[in-house]
Amino acid sequence: MHIGIVGLGLIGGSLGLDFREAGHRVSGVSRSPDTCRIAVERGAVDQAQPEFTLLHDADVVFLCTPLGVMQETIQTLIPHLSAQTILTDVGSVKQSVVYTLEPLWRRFVGGHPMAGTEHTGILAAIPNLFRDRPYVLTPTPQTDSEAQSILRSLIQDLKSQYYECTPIQHDRAVALISHLPVMVSASLLQACLAEPDVEILKLAQSLASSGFRDTSRVGGGNPELGRMMAEHNQTEVLRSLQQYRQSLDQIIELITEKKWDALEQLLTQNLAKRPNFVDQ
Ligand code: NAP
Repeated sequence: MHIGIVGLGLIGGSLGLDFREAGHRVSGVSRSPDTCRIAVERGAVDQAQPEFTLLHDADVVFLCTPLGVMQETIQTLIPHLSAQTILTDVGSVKQSVVYTLEPLWRRFVGGHPMAGTEHTGILAAIPNLFRDRPYVLTPTPQTDSEAQSILRSLIQDLKSQYYECTPIQHDRAVALISHLPVMVSASLLQACLAEPDVEILKLAQSLASSGFRDTSRVGGGNPELGRMMAEHNQTEVLRSLQQYRQSLDQIIELITEKKWDALEQLLTQNLAKRPNFVDQ
């Protein structure tokens, strides 16, 4: 199959590496000529250039640019595609992308590979990034079922776990497990930085160890990513933060009222339920 990748960064480059490994021909388009050159040198693509003409006979094109430029990218790309080309995106938020891009291309299917690292750009691309990780497609009643099943078989080539849900279900679930943790962790850091006693603040910074490293990691990461989550998934991020505020109020109340047994019960429930979210 001839696969096109637009935006040769961490996700686009990593997809290229795995699709080539699976025997597909991969053409890349990225705005920077340097990125295109490095992508070829690293074996992420068979060929690459900044112009979309390379994709005129692509069977499937993956849009791997930042969320904010997906619409303008697809508008420039469309005149270069054959009518049969299947188009998909890898954006981390689905409602805004799917409902903007779907009316522009008949064979569009939204998608999201749930894998990444803290690094960006073509030099961060690595093989097997998607292996054993979830890859979600978010079809709508308008989605072309043949396009969806072709994408599903490509996702199997990545050795990913295939999931399917609506765009709103996706954004709600991802708000809970990805976007809410970033905001909670960011507010944890802000709460510590708000300590008025400079000596205590310095002492806390010296004593901070693995627990603080774990809980502050996602809130102390890439600021653009946090902004992107809030901006493009505003409703669901706010919904998850309201749920979180209720949980926090509940814990504050238990501590204020010295309801130690109830607090322990809540923590025991967490201990039992956490493995439903993450492997331990
Ligand atoms: P990235 O490493 O920064 O790569 C994005 C690439 O898009 C860049 O290499 C750049 O190519 C190109 N690009 C950047 N700004 C552009 C612009 N204004 N116009 C045109 N092209 C531009 O980012 P990424 O982490 O791969 O993320 C790409 C997409 O994957 C995003 O939509 C994100 O939501 C989604 N995603 C990310 C993760 C994650 O953990 N990082 C996980 C799943 C999905 P040049 O170098 O040629 O400029």
